[in-house]
Amino acid sequence: MGDTMYTPPFRYLEGGTPEDWFGRLPTPCYILEERALRHNGEILAGLAERTGCRVLLAQKAFSNYDLYPVLEPYLAGTEASGLYEARLGAEKMPGKEVHVFSAAYRDDQFVELLHYADHIVFNSPSQLMRFGRQAKVAGRSIGLRINPEWSTQDGHDIYDPCAPGSRLGTTREQWNALMTDEGKALLDGLHFHTLCEQDADDLATTLKAVETTFGDILPQMKWLNMGGGHHITRPGYQINLLEDCIRTAQKKWNVQVYLEPGEACALHAGYLATRVLDVLTNGNTKIAIVDTSAACHMPDVLEMPYRPPLFGSGEAGARPYTYRLGGPTCLSGDVIGDYSFDKPLEAGDLLLFGDMAIYTTCKTNTFNGMPLPDLYVRHETGTIEELCHFGYDDFHYRLGK
Ligand SMILES: *Cc1c(COP(=O)(O)O)cnc(C)c1O
Repeated sequence: MGDTMYTPPFRYLEGGTPEDWFGRLPTPCYILEERALRHNGEILAGLAERTGCRVLLAQKAFSNYDLYPVLEPYLAGTEASGLYEARLGAEKMPGKEVHVFSAAYRDDQFVELLHYADHIVFNSPSQLMRFGRQAKVAGRSIGLRINPEWSTQDGHDIYDPCAPGSRLGTTREQWNALMTDEGKALLDGLHFHTLCEQDADDLATTLKAVETTFGDILPQMKWLNMGGGHHITRPGYQINLLEDCIRTAQKKWNVQVYLEPGEACALHAGYLATRVLDVLTNGNTKIAIVDTSAACHMPDVLEMPYRPPLFGSGEAGARPYTYRLGGPTCLSGDVIGDYSFDKPLEAGDLLLFGDMAIYTTCKTNTFNGMPLPDLYVRHETGTIEELCHFGYDDFHYRLGK
């Protein structure tokens, strides 16, 4: 059995091949795995039950609202990055909490935002002073994002809100210089978000930094939101240590703790099916062009960057036939990665990428006029249902009248 066969990204697909499971679907397409979402939900609900913390879905990572009814029983609500996600959360997970954080809010949207969101987190004392009173009068709970200036990620500045010069979160120095008594009186909670795909040991050291920088403020707060980036549903995650962190914060500061994971809610909960269009050789490099694109359909492969899991494949050289997989676009760097197989690839072969629910379906684009992958769900009963079908119009309507 191969290194990427039936591992967590594919554990619900035992006994068959991608062709057996998804061969009749048009490619490229995403298939969301309902069982995986429920599995994640159960882990998060257990955490909430044991500790009393509340867990929100960070919608920017996963916003396929047709599946919200699967996650909804396990969560306290949603987290939004602005007006549209706040509205989506309010409408698609009705009756649950809607928290919002944006680096800056707009005058022309704030009234509407207050309609959808019950917890408003500001990025700076100036934003708090600009909008905080209005939010308070509307009965909303008000928070400030802090920057504990504690980087736990090496060489990953694009995902490090604690990097020098960061625009995200209020440092203690900024607080001391700018925070007024009126601003302080408006605050119900503090928020920090500094992790990305990390374990609880990094949260533990971050909490120490939070205590050092804002420990005198926290006892006056009702809640503390520890953001996302907690890889809670990854096998091997130190959930006991996370629970210790939550209980310590509850005891020390008497706060309601919130977590707002995105990845952990929908980790390993989707696939991207693609077919090989052509196979070629350049010098020593064998190349397969597939009908999906890293740039258009899995942009984090290039941004993060990372190498997505692929069913039935190994690292380059691990199996007899190694190929560089790339998309049909003009971008030289539209390369998904190097993978090895037991058999040579041929045009028409169906390949299945794993962990394609998070930061994928919500990040697609039609660069080069690439079609958007259709979207399916594989229900717990095994039946497959189409959620979205895309065509030329979806490319066309964003570009003119
Ligand atoms: C991105 C983000 C999250 C979710 O992060 P994950 O890494 O997907 O868990 C939560 N809160 C805020 C403020 C974020 O920016």
